[in-house]
Amino acid sequence: GGRQTLVAHLTPLLRGEVLLILRDVTREREAERARRDLVANASHELRTPVTAIHGAAETLLGGALAEPEQARHFVEMIARHADRLARLTRDLLDLSRIESGQWAMNVGPLDVVPLARNLLDLYAAPAAERRLALGSALPEALRVQADARALEQILVNLVENAIKYTPAGGAVTLSGAAEGPSVTLAVTDTGPGIDKHHLPRLFERFYRADAGRGRDQGGTGLGLAIVKHLAHAQGGAVGVESGAGGSRFWVRLPAAD
Ligand code: ADP
Repeated sequence: GGRQTLVAHLTPLLRGEVLLILRDVTREREAERARRDLVANASHELRTPVTAIHGAAETLLGGALAEPEQARHFVEMIARHADRLARLTRDLLDLSRIESGQWAMNVGPLDVVPLARNLLDLYAAPAAERRLALGSALPEALRVQADARALEQILVNLVENAIKYTPAGGAVTLSGAAEGPSVTLAVTDTGPGIDKHHLPRLFERFYRADAGRGRDQGGTGLGLAIVKHLAHAQGGAVGVESGAGGSRFWVRLPAAD
């Protein structure tokens, strides 16, 4: 309203500049709002385990300590929520390091295949424990421009999610292929799939398609946000396709020759 009338009265040259400034102000406001949202969400997520630990400790001190069975129950509760706090703070720190450019990216040519095979070995036991077939579809070598630690973190987060959300008897596959100037890596699962309306927001911090389930399974709601920011910091992109047959999370990175 007021802004448009003001801008309309300016000379074309000045108008361009004023519009640029207005756009900067809008962008700054959006960043500011994102920061406020992050602090509010993070405080909310941190409060739950803190409250639980506090309550369990009070109950122990109030007498439960004398009853071995009760004592064990409340100590286990403290351990579980402390673990959750540790994971939340670790992921929040990672995210803020990536976003503020403090995660020193060492982008260079590297072969994804040995890194991926190593990871599959690491997750063989957890997958078997959940009766999941963990497989791969990889060429002999697949060279990308990436930071090894960031790439590993991306694949860990995607594989862990696939293992976490796919019911027993299913399959999780890590695949990779070169496509012209880029390489696409994907983690496909035969899980329940994700409702279409969640997909556009899935990579936002703390966004969960199924809040209760994600939290019960130890999720922080930050895994995919970390994947997105790490991919972007390496000049890459991320995406997801999901349907009744399962989900496919992918990351595209520049190929190395
Ligand atoms: P979380 O810690 O909750 O797993 P993420 O950021 O890693 O958080 O994932 C965000 C949400 O996306 C999850 O809460 C879950 O609802 C959904 N999600 C992620 N990966 C999968 C998957 N492989 N299958 C089904 N849902 C998934």
